[in-house]
Amino acid sequence: MKTFKGGQHIDGFKHLSREMAIKTLPLPSQVIIPLSQHTGAVCEPVVKKGDMVKTGTLIGTSDKLISSRIHASLSGVIKDILEYNHPILGQAQAVIIDSDGNDTLDSAIVKRTKIELLSKEQLLEIIKNAGIVGLGGAAFPAQVKLNPLKPVDTLLINGVECEPYLTCDYRLMLEHTNSILKGIVLMQKIIGVETVIIGIEEDKLEAIKLLRNKCVEKKYNIEIVCLKAKYPQGAEKQLIKAILDREVPSGKLPFDVGVIVSNVGTAFAVFEAVYNAKPLYERVVTVTGKCVKQPSNLKVRIGTRFKELLDFCQGFTQTPGKIIMGGPMMGMSQYTDDLPVIKGTSGILVLSQKEVQEFSQGADQSCIRCGRCVNICPVGMLPYALSLCVEMNKLDKAAQYNPFDCIECGACTYVCPAKRQILSGIRLIKAVTR
Ligand code: SF4
Ligand code: SF4
Repeated sequence: MKTFKGGQHIDGFKHLSREMAIKTLPLPSQVIIPLSQHTGAVCEPVVKKGDMVKTGTLIGTSDKLISSRIHASLSGVIKDILEYNHPILGQAQAVIIDSDGNDTLDSAIVKRTKIELLSKEQLLEIIKNAGIVGLGGAAFPAQVKLNPLKPVDTLLINGVECEPYLTCDYRLMLEHTNSILKGIVLMQKIIGVETVIIGIEEDKLEAIKLLRNKCVEKKYNIEIVCLKAKYPQGAEKQLIKAILDREVPSGKLPFDVGVIVSNVGTAFAVFEAVYNAKPLYERVVTVTGKCVKQPSNLKVRIGTRFKELLDFCQGFTQTPGKIIMGGPMMGMSQYTDDLPVIKGTSGILVLSQKEVQEFSQGADQSCIRCGRCVNICPVGMLPYALSLCVEMNKLDKAAQYNPFDCIECGACTYVCPAKRQILSGIRLIKAVTR
């Protein structure tokens, strides 16, 4: 099995939700759709209070190159456009839609035929209009990523899902195998590459088997590579290193070494946009944690409140200590459950008070120079040195340790026996330097 240098196997707690087939959450009575859910420029609303919209109607757009369109996720009336809680930005402008209960589709959502006749330019336009972003984490606009500035020779599809607890990509691979493969073939056509490889960790053997069989059956020229289960195997640069043995230099991007990396969820969204003319107004979210009564994988409308997902999962088994959007390593803690699901919401994780205490008790002790953070860092950094810069309030000195190479995987913080908040420090250094 292929892998990269550094990293470590982390107990995944995936058993909580991996056998839970995707269920559709009942339609919410209201959605809150932020106008910023992606990397790049914030969208401007193209609707106003009182307007009627249908499911899939465009409600926000931007004329900037790096941005992604936003659509209504149910039919109804625009109740308001105002600042609302946002799981990443804290607060952001959002369009509030009250459902009419009918879920009437926008007239533009009609199944397409003769897909094979669509040109690269037409496919890119469809993806842009559908507001597709990378669903693996960064929510980068797909139409920009799939049209790189330099020639590339390989499309890598990320089916790793190395973040503990999360299983939404795994369920997608099992339940929507054909659609994902069709989406990948479309991306292959857009980029114009021969080589397509899907990387999946060894702990998802059912998905590996299923995808391999389908590729043989449908005669797709796609290779499935089994990777060692190790965190953070799903990080772009680590995936490229493991599968292709190419190193993305500091400050460069995958296309600088001839590669485009895309997530299986994105491939599914591309399929939906092209074949079904469906904008990205819903996604699969893993709701999990020992604290959740019924961990689940749910197909939910963008803009649905976290609280509704948690209620659908029958609430909590004990008092929650922390609610996180995403997984425990790279996710973001939230201060309320009155937050909308956005395009980048792969999971909602609830940790108990006991679990949180175990990790936070006795935090931030002195560094004992054990070197564990150095050994685990997948990009070969000196995390302890950056952490000491923060402790001594010498942020200017931190530049020599290349803080911007940090992919914020959190592995150093995870292994530190002194429970130093290394990643928080690195984020601070980055923010101050910027
Ligand atoms: S968070 Fe940054 S410094 Fe820490 S292990 Fe990951 S890449 Fe290295
Ligand atoms: S793991 Fe923690 S204690 Fe060990 S060297 Fe790194 S910062 Fe210091």
